[in-house]
Parts: sequence; C-alpha cells; structure tokens
Amino acid sequence: MLIEFACRRCGARLSKPVERRELEPLPRVSGREHYTYGPSTVVAGATAVDPDSCTRAGAAATWVINPLDGVGLRPHTDSSRLYGCCRRDGINGPNLLCAGCGSEVGIEISDCWTEHDIRLLSSAVTVEQVQ
Ligand SMILES: [Zn+2]
Ligand SMILES: [Zn+2]
Repeated sequence: MLIEFACRRCGARLSKPVERRELEPLPRVSGREHYTYGPSTVVAGATAVDPDSCTRAGAAATWVINPLDGVGLRPHTDSSRLYGCCRRDGINGPNLLCAGCGSEVGIEISDCWTEHDIRLLSSAVTVEQVQ
C-alpha cells in the first residue's frame, strides 16, 4: 500500500508516494569526511514510522522518509534552526517548513556526522492513501 504525506494545515503534498515498512534503525552513525552524506534509514520509495520520541522533534513521533522523496519542503526561515557542520544536524528542532503555508513539518538530518534522513512530524502531517 502506497501512502503520501501532506501538510496538516494547508493540505500541500510533502512526499512522493512511499511504501510503509517496519523501522529498521541504523547502527550508530558517526563522523566521516566533511561534505559527505551518511546512510539513509529507509531507501527511496519507503517510509517507516518511528514511535519513539525523536529528541530532535521535541519528543514527538516522526515518519522517516528518504530525502529523495521529500517534496514541497523548504528550509526554516529561522537560521538558528539550520545549524550543522557541513549541512543540517537537526538538533535545534524542526528545520523544514511546508513550502505552501510555512508551518513546521519536518527535520532534515544531513550532516557529516549523522545519517541522511528526513523526519516528518506526525503531529504536522497527514497520511493519505494513494490508489
Ligand atoms: Zn562537517
Ligand atoms: Zn502547509
């Protein structure tokens, strides 16, 4: 079954169609060469819900998607959310906004010492079934 994520506030689409899988957390990711991308928790075309509070999300459940599947997202307008060594570590809270209405919908994690994922906040997105 394919699902898509949409913004809870304005309904804009936030992902390509993705297939729900069980979460298989990555082994702990550590530092490597600057400006390189880490492994992704889910392959493109898949998603998994992480019921455990993601500390980056302020202790909220998140859906993990591959960064290739995110659409209609833009960086946060508050630059304090965009910290990271080479890209984004996501530690300062949600750093992705819905491009449609500007609400906080997700976290890009893409730094040189992290995995490479997008986490969508369960509280900010809706899950829609795709035919
Ligand atoms: Zn770096
Ligand atoms: Zn929106």
